[in-house]
Amino acid sequence: MSRECENQSFTCAHCGAGVRPLAGGSYRNHCPQCLWSVHVDVRPGDRAADCGGPMRPVRLVQPRGKRLAVVHRCLTCGVESTNRLAVDDPMQPDCALAVADVQASALPNPISGAAPNDSPLERGGRRRRPPRR
Ligand SMILES: [Zn+2]
Ligand SMILES: [Zn+2]
Repeated sequence: MSRECENQSFTCAHCGAGVRPLAGGSYRNHCPQCLWSVHVDVRPGDRAADCGGPMRPVRLVQPRGKRLAVVHRCLTCGVESTNRLAVDDPMQPDCALAVADVQASALPNPISGAAPNDSPLERGGRRRRPPRR
């Protein structure tokens, strides 16, 4: 298989956006609108994974001297992979808002904060009395 075949446009499984290949010819495996990906690759572009699970952008990383990258975690099998962002792609740059969103939600604690009003506990111990006979 030639490498050109692997660098195709695709439709985002998360938000439905049409995703075009990068103008620079490097492989893009995530959606520029929502930054989600799909677990099809072991290494970027190789399509060697048969998982196919949705991959959520969980945090940003920037190795020293390298470009900003996003870490995806597969919701099906839990594997993580790092992918370079393409915020300066001339054709279809990664959405800066989505990138900022990932950055804002990248908490050290992996448990996402539950809304305070969303408590499953019922309001304190008032119990209806059994009817008198
Ligand atoms: Zn998307
Ligand atoms: Zn997976």
